[in-house]
Amino acid sequence: MIKANPTSRIQIQLYADHIRKCIGYKNKLYFPILKFLEIVLPTLIPNFNYEILSKEEMGNKHGETRPDLDLIQIREDVYSGACIGNGRDRMTIAHEIGHLLMHSKLNISLCRVENGIEEKPKIYEDPEWQADVFTGELLAPSYLIRDMSPEEVSKDANISLAAARTQLRHLPINHSQNPHERRRCL
Ligand SMILES: [Zn+2]
Repeated sequence: MIKANPTSRIQIQLYADHIRKCIGYKNKLYFPILKFLEIVLPTLIPNFNYEILSKEEMGNKHGETRPDLDLIQIREDVYSGACIGNGRDRMTIAHEIGHLLMHSKLNISLCRVENGIEEKPKIYEDPEWQADVFTGELLAPSYLIRDMSPEEVSKDANISLAAARTQLRHLPINHSQNPHERRRCL
């Protein structure tokens, strides 16, 4: 079992906000994930590379990231889906970018095995959970969608409706809200 350094939802939100701010997308909801992959990432990570691979090569994996090689691999149908604005495919690319930026070999470890039983990682130590939170915050930041419906978020941020609903369910507590309407988040 792979375990990442513990990272809270708030920490990931701040990290995604920082990225958006650095490239001038602080207040724009739609995030150009392909432009970020192809133009911005190579300027941030000198050895960064991405590959578009066939279905034969990738099998049932939509994307895969090798932080040790600064490499993201994307299945060709996912890449072309993202090019034509398919929300799920855009999210797959954001998810892989999350792994690349957050999960270098320095902050990933194998879970300790005790008496042959794997120690179950906490949710905030799960690299898949972390990459999913990063995806939500990069593509549909909590602070921009607070007053929107799931349908509006899905359309304007160009993410799947299911992801828009999930993202709205995890909005951080806004202290100006009625306390009875506050939602919890990690
Ligand atoms: Zn993943």
